[in-house]
Amino acid sequence: MKWSISAGRIFGINLRIHLTFFLLLLFVFASAYSERGFNAGVMSALFICAIFACVVIHEVGHSLIARRFGKEAKSITLLPIGGMATVEEMPKKPAQEIAVALIGPMINLVIAGVLYVLVGRETGVSIPIYIESGRAFVSGLIGVNIMLAIFNLIPAFPMDGGRVLRAILAIKLNYVRATSLAVSIGQAISVFFIFFGLVSNWWLTLIGVFLYLGASSEKQQVILQSLLAEVPVSEAMTTEYISLRPNDLLVNALEHFHHGSQQDFPVIGDAGVEGVLTRDRILASIHTRGVDTPVSEVMDRSFIAVSPNTGLDEVYKQLMSNQKTAAVVMENGRLKGMLCLDGISRYFMIRAALKGVDTGNFGAGMRI
Ligand SMILES: [Zn+2]
Repeated sequence: MKWSISAGRIFGINLRIHLTFFLLLLFVFASAYSERGFNAGVMSALFICAIFACVVIHEVGHSLIARRFGKEAKSITLLPIGGMATVEEMPKKPAQEIAVALIGPMINLVIAGVLYVLVGRETGVSIPIYIESGRAFVSGLIGVNIMLAIFNLIPAFPMDGGRVLRAILAIKLNYVRATSLAVSIGQAISVFFIFFGLVSNWWLTLIGVFLYLGASSEKQQVILQSLLAEVPVSEAMTTEYISLRPNDLLVNALEHFHHGSQQDFPVIGDAGVEGVLTRDRILASIHTRGVDTPVSEVMDRSFIAVSPNTGLDEVYKQLMSNQKTAAVVMENGRLKGMLCLDGISRYFMIRAALKGVDTGNFGAGMRI
């Protein structure tokens, strides 16, 4: 994630803070300072830090439970809107997903409960705007933790409640259908938030828009995963392809690119595959380097090579995280085929059509 700095590790999980979080701190300090003075400014900023500490504990809870089920969490990123745990993949067994999702809000309720039992009867519970005393600090922390728990339990993606709802539906339905239904329910709730917010409080409208967008992206991810999982690369790779030699010139590549349908070319030397010449590299270098440049000078030497048995979803993840558009398919040191994002996208659309899954325009736009 760009624009974030490392803030150490907890339980082996990298903690990162998004730079906009500091803007939030500054904003809270400045507005409390101008309304109520320096003391209120500092206490309000500290209060925000305390809330975010609770958010970190909430996210660590998700990560540790996910780890128990074998799903490793890579990092937790603190954003001004809350925390975000990057768990590689959610467990797909309903009971496990429910446990991972519920632990977050439960942690907030426990924090609120413990604080209330210790000092809450004196301080009360509040949702303060500015903090000027220790009393307001504690009562605010109790109030905000209760609010965080309720907010996270809204049954709409990407909130924890959305995951609980999906997991409950997945007991009876398959994972894709359960996600679709959970997304529809979540979107209905977010539309309600949007309209209710328009007549009452703008914040609710903003939350509604956020929930609506989160729901759609979760649905796309699940459809993509479910359609590509367990399909071997060999099913979607191109076996009829043109390859280039390292000393071919860009003009030769351009010729094939222009008159054929192939966009990415394997470059094969005496020792085997030496690189991949992608569409983007061809287009980027014909102007700067000229069409008489040998292919070996502009090809991508750190290309991705996969075996024909690798899962398609796995290759897709690799391509996306390395920002590549094509992988070569190798077996026993020999080139077996090419797999590019267009190919995955085509295959995805065919699978979706065969299974009658509505993907909207998703898939067509995989390669931008
Ligand atoms: Zn959560």
